[in-house]
Amino acid sequence: MAVDSPLSSPLGPPACEKDAKALQFIEEMTRNAESVQQRVLAEILSRNAQTEYLTRFQLNGATDRETFKSKLPVITYEDLQPEIHRIANGDRSAILSAHPISEFLTSSGTSAGERKLMPTIKEELDRRQLLYSLLMPVMNLYVAGLDKGKGLYFLFVKSEIRTPGGLLARPVLTSYYKSDHFKTRPYDPYNVYTSPNEAILCPDSFQSMYTQMLCGLLDRHQVLRLGAVFASGLLRAIRFLQLNWRQLAHDMETGSLNSKITDPSLRECIVKTLKPNPELAQFVRHECSKDDWEGIIVRIWPNTKYLDVIVTGAMAQYIPTLDYYSGGLPLACTMYASSECYFGLNLNLMCKPSEVSYTIMPNMAYFEFLPHEPNLDSTGFDFTHELPPKLVDLVDVEVGKEYELVITTYAGLCRYRVGDILRVTGFHNSAPQFHFIRRKNVLLSIDSDKTDEAELQTAVENASHLLREHNASVVEYTSHADTKTIPGHYVVYWELLVKDSTNSPDNDTLEQCCLAMEESLNSVYRQGRVADNSIGPLEIRVVKNGTFEELMDYAISRGASINQYKVPRCVSFTPIMELLDSRVVSAHFSPALPHWSPERSQ
Ligand code: AMP
Repeated sequence: MAVDSPLSSPLGPPACEKDAKALQFIEEMTRNAESVQQRVLAEILSRNAQTEYLTRFQLNGATDRETFKSKLPVITYEDLQPEIHRIANGDRSAILSAHPISEFLTSSGTSAGERKLMPTIKEELDRRQLLYSLLMPVMNLYVAGLDKGKGLYFLFVKSEIRTPGGLLARPVLTSYYKSDHFKTRPYDPYNVYTSPNEAILCPDSFQSMYTQMLCGLLDRHQVLRLGAVFASGLLRAIRFLQLNWRQLAHDMETGSLNSKITDPSLRECIVKTLKPNPELAQFVRHECSKDDWEGIIVRIWPNTKYLDVIVTGAMAQYIPTLDYYSGGLPLACTMYASSECYFGLNLNLMCKPSEVSYTIMPNMAYFEFLPHEPNLDSTGFDFTHELPPKLVDLVDVEVGKEYELVITTYAGLCRYRVGDILRVTGFHNSAPQFHFIRRKNVLLSIDSDKTDEAELQTAVENASHLLREHNASVVEYTSHADTKTIPGHYVVYWELLVKDSTNSPDNDTLEQCCLAMEESLNSVYRQGRVADNSIGPLEIRVVKNGTFEELMDYAISRGASINQYKVPRCVSFTPIMELLDSRVVSAHFSPALPHWSPERSQ
């Protein structure tokens, strides 16, 4: 169906002319998904035809899909390590992209314990900006009047480094917030934030959070939506309020700013707006001093219509807590994106979190899909370069099937496996919509950290060395991401073999084991512990001898095969948690922060 008037759209009536254009763009892209994909691939291949990478696979200037698929291997980050290394070390030749690499985006996915470095080019910022510009027009279809107030968004920049060759390496959102696209964005009544840029851009996370919370409180009646990128971030803000409301109330009462806010431009900006407001201070004290924080979000920000946070994937674990603090406000997951590429958006924003599907926007990159058997891991496929697996194109995926996402980007990633498993739920026009199932190989996650089985295994091994002087060892272990407290923390259940009961490991030793595990975990975990305060101290719970045998008995009683039974390395199923917790003999927490610095170890 054609969009007849600029103020109509198959998605619904746009709120304004600008929205009509955005919705029309979504219609055009999704209706012509196939031809857009073909064009995107041809553009990428023709502009990068002379790059070392495409030349290596003898594409010889071909830009068609068949040649591309027959010659280019499907790869992972590890395959690209040598090229990435060279770029990081200053090789400016056209290795992956004909356009100069402008910076590296540091992914929360890690390789050998360090954040993956994703090369990007300047124009990718425009592409990301374009996707952002579609979000409010879609939201306005569901929630009216968002131009009559503000959004309280907790947004942060993180540390950045320079690679040996001088390129910046930083998270994609830090890159975006520091860009002119964000800093000098034109006024848009639908996109007014309570947080000034100075607060968002302040590198000190305490000062940034404090001032963002203060501004949110000062503007409390104007706040129509509350958000953070991920659910864990919004909960961290609530926790921050629990810990800091007295000082915040003091500032409001007196009109003077906490002396811990030392960043000069931030101080100047906040001091300008902060006037004594004893009434507000009294209100904040009254609400925050109650023992019961249920519904605190709507009590403090009574006009909030929804929470804007990602609660799909690993973040689903936070839904009950968010519901508790917000009194069950709608949770809107607006987009699906990564450092490699921004993928798409949710067109049905008020649906239940469990039903969220993201529509991939065909203009963002060239997308392919590797069929994924839910019960087979990726080793079920042959990934030797001689035998390329059969990948499916965007418009050819089938409803109900699961796939791993593979992308070819303008910045030069070719047939790159992102590692996300998606299930097709339907189509908007000819563009498929995907439910995010999970990221492959992630065992534990609290915030943006992702710990896999091998990392946990190494951490347990390293820590258990400390048990040697007690003549003890770890016989079995499993883990759990405990999000009952904010911030959440990793719990590792240990069953010990103690050979000399007069010398069994004491609390001190087991605490040191907790810290040794943390030291072994990847840099995103350690950054969450040290710099972001988004992960609490790791806990070891020692369980009685025989607990893991009971666990096996339980699994077998539920139908697991005795021959194939493997100890699950992560558990969340309530009966299993109850069994484990009822067998705990002692609990120990990491007594200190692990080491972390923004510098990379490799
Ligand atoms: P990063 O590379 O650190 O930017 O992380 C990107 C990854 O975060 C994606 O590949 C997904 O695994 C995850 N992610 C991003 N957006 C969503 C979303 N809307 N729902 C679930 N997971 C997401």
